[in-house]
Amino acid sequence: MQNFDFYNPTHIVFGQNRLAELDNLIPADAKVLVLYGGGSVKRNGALEQVKAGLGERSVIEFGGIEPNPEFTTLMKAVDIVKQEGITFLLAVGGGSVMDGTKFIALAAKFDSEPESLLFHGFNPPPAKEALPLGCVATLPATGSEMNMGAVVTYNHQKYPVMSPLAFPKFSFLDPEFTKTLPKEQIANGIADAFIHVTEQYLTYPVNAKVQDRMAEGVLQTLIEEGPITYADNDNMDARKNFIWSATMALNGIIGSGVPHDWATHMIGHELTASYGIAHGRTLAIVLPSLLRERKTQKHDKLTQFAERVWNITEGSDDDKINLAIDKTEAFFNSLDIVTNLTHYDIDDQGIEKVVGNMEKMGLTALSETGDLDLACVTRILHAAK
Ligand code: NAP
Ligand code: FE
Repeated sequence: MQNFDFYNPTHIVFGQNRLAELDNLIPADAKVLVLYGGGSVKRNGALEQVKAGLGERSVIEFGGIEPNPEFTTLMKAVDIVKQEGITFLLAVGGGSVMDGTKFIALAAKFDSEPESLLFHGFNPPPAKEALPLGCVATLPATGSEMNMGAVVTYNHQKYPVMSPLAFPKFSFLDPEFTKTLPKEQIANGIADAFIHVTEQYLTYPVNAKVQDRMAEGVLQTLIEEGPITYADNDNMDARKNFIWSATMALNGIIGSGVPHDWATHMIGHELTASYGIAHGRTLAIVLPSLLRERKTQKHDKLTQFAERVWNITEGSDDDKINLAIDKTEAFFNSLDIVTNLTHYDIDDQGIEKVVGNMEKMGLTALSETGDLDLACVTRILHAAK
């Protein structure tokens, strides 16, 4: 196992009908900005319950944070924070609203150009403080509710921003609010969570037994409970397991002390930035081809994945690996996620554009070993046609 620090201060409030407890979690004299997206939180009752939970506190609303939140939109909220003397941010929505709120929390307390918070990759930006924030998560997928990451769109590119100052103080995970999700968002969330796990698990072995077994447990839970949640809106047991899997997939625990490979996310971000394909879907397109391309580098962990996650015991290692990747792709397809680029009208020229953008972004040495270059990305995308 590699050396690591694990730090996660987020208080999770899991379960139905608990929003009255907001009252204990936000200072009574706070001036709160409640942030949301395009209106789903009005339809599923989350916003109404949040307002009731905030009681007599001074509250201002900021709606309209779009999927893949735009820097310019977030800066409008920063202006309101400054004008109104806001002291607490409350995100109500999916990953985009939670991520956007984290960025607003950093930008509102940052003295220099807020753009300069964007260009630090997986290293923390030079922020010294942030406004406190909490979340009411309505879409299980990103893990944003319990991590320090945000992804912000700026000039048609997606930038990760990772700051320990951006951890939510608390996050409510109420499964009731997720029942209004369209089926395709449930599928996207299952794919996103699944691939968060594989990007911290399918690398090379470092004998991190706890992390490996937890990662395998999250993957198996997603495989078992994801399709039930997808098919049956009323199965609360399955839904709760799916929700907690998505949080566990990216709250730092399974990723401690192990190598990471975020190549699928980096390529996927370019597909979203260039073609507007939903985040989870881009990952499901890329992952199977990436795993086939990287079979040699990932041989040991792919074999373990085949045996322990997909219970494949027969055949050579190579047979097991091939079958495990096929089963993974079939799993995404079973959730009506199409895993080829042609379906999204992306041809050879489109692939060239994606690769060109990655070059501009400096994404030329990806993976756990830093040797996944643009030629490799090109092969992966061609294999995903
Ligand atoms: P999202 O972009 O937050 O939301 C997608 C859609 O789902 C929106 O149209 C939203 O509508 C709707 N929605 C949300 N909750 C709903 C509900 N309960 N009922 C009905 N509709 C609902 O999706 P996401 O997958 O959670 O977030 C994706 C973003 O997160 C991407 O930008 C991705 O890059 C980023 N990401 C972040 C991390 C991280 O660690 N922070 C990890 C992976 C990905 P409304 O706008 O009307 O609410
Ligand atoms: Fe993701």
